[in-house]
Amino acid sequence: MNYFSLNNRNAFVDFKEATIRGQAPDKGLYFPEKIPSLDKTLISDIDNISNEEIAFRVIRPFVGNGIPEDVLFDIVKQTVNFPIPLVKIKEDMYALEMFHGNTLAFKDIGARFMSRCLAHFVKGNDKKVTVLVATSGDTGGAVADGFYNVDGVDVVILYPSGKVSMVQEKQLTTLGSNIHALEVNGTFDDCQQMVKKAFTDNDLNEKLFLTSANSINVARWLPQQFFYFFAYKQWPDKTNAPVVCVPSGNFGNICSALLANISGLPVKHFIAACNANDVVPNFMKTYEYKPKKAVATLSNAMDVGDPSNFIRILELFQHQTKELSSKLTAYSISDEETAATIKSVEKEFNYLLDPHGAVGYLSLKRHLDLHPNDKGIFAETAHPVKFYDVVEPIIEKKIDLPPSVQNIIHKEKVSTKIENDFGALKDFLFVM
Ligand SMILES: *Cc1c(COP(=O)(O)O)cnc(C)c1O
Repeated sequence: MNYFSLNNRNAFVDFKEATIRGQAPDKGLYFPEKIPSLDKTLISDIDNISNEEIAFRVIRPFVGNGIPEDVLFDIVKQTVNFPIPLVKIKEDMYALEMFHGNTLAFKDIGARFMSRCLAHFVKGNDKKVTVLVATSGDTGGAVADGFYNVDGVDVVILYPSGKVSMVQEKQLTTLGSNIHALEVNGTFDDCQQMVKKAFTDNDLNEKLFLTSANSINVARWLPQQFFYFFAYKQWPDKTNAPVVCVPSGNFGNICSALLANISGLPVKHFIAACNANDVVPNFMKTYEYKPKKAVATLSNAMDVGDPSNFIRILELFQHQTKELSSKLTAYSISDEETAATIKSVEKEFNYLLDPHGAVGYLSLKRHLDLHPNDKGIFAETAHPVKFYDVVEPIIEKKIDLPPSVQNIIHKEKVSTKIENDFGALKDFLFVM
């Protein structure tokens, strides 16, 4: 499989190069040259196929000859090493719990897969690879965990001091070994700017082999399709395909679900669930794409004002807005509605939503109210305990911390504080 840049349809790279580069040199996102059609038995026999086998069969065409089959199978096996249960909430609504991986958010799947692919690609290189990543919270933890102790790879994570949750910060700062946390006296945007600058800096690129692990990397984007196959495998009524609702920020996760559907996975309709950051819901009304400055909400992993993967969704539909709107509806949910949903679902169904899942729940419910014969799945993208500071006051109860969180909150944080200054980042990278 080859990939082209969405800024230049004539420049192709293979899976390996797309993974190592992350983004095309012309700053375009990589996109597969063709969408593979699934072998029909994968759907008709899905009940009898293991998750590892499903994941392998889904990803293999995208990787092509880039990785030998036995190595790829092993990578996939290590990627899907946690349960992803479909939990019934009520007659017509199910939660797909994507959060049972090490860092309690769905990003573990993409980070685990990408880190193992990259480790395979750099094996035998004499130069170490340095993965540089800025995080607003969840990405950093997943990337740190995915790359922890991977040979030949150093990871440097920039995060805004005081602006990530306690659990998120511990996930970034307590691993040690090849994982380095830089606590930046600035915002997430400042961190992101420094990372972008590093990739274009001549001195740094002469000395180091820098790569990124942000969410536009194909090796993080594509394996997210696995979730939706596992959901279908557990779906009780195969004659009536589910509506699938995905809490969305940068739109990578839902874009992978749409891709799976175009390859042949049965899905009746898609819902993009957004918070107050409503660029895509507005687009679906006006067909005009108007990025905005992100506003802070309770579901902070979705506070994105210019979602980078939306361009890939337009590409999947060949920019035909009519076809896109027959397959996708988008809702914007306020913080008040998010909080009220967490409270009422806990009370009525004894199910605890995290703020992102609550946006998903309510968006799906709105759709089902208009389409009473449909049934649906919403993605629960993070464990509520990751946002216990938000959730506990809403439900007026304490939440039990799972062992993975109890372990981590007692560990000592190790970070290097730097000012919001590119020179400081450079100095760190040179002496590290
Ligand atoms: C990253 C994240 C999202 C948004 O996913 P996108 O692929 O960026 O749309 C939603 N929920 C949680 C918990 C996240 O960490």
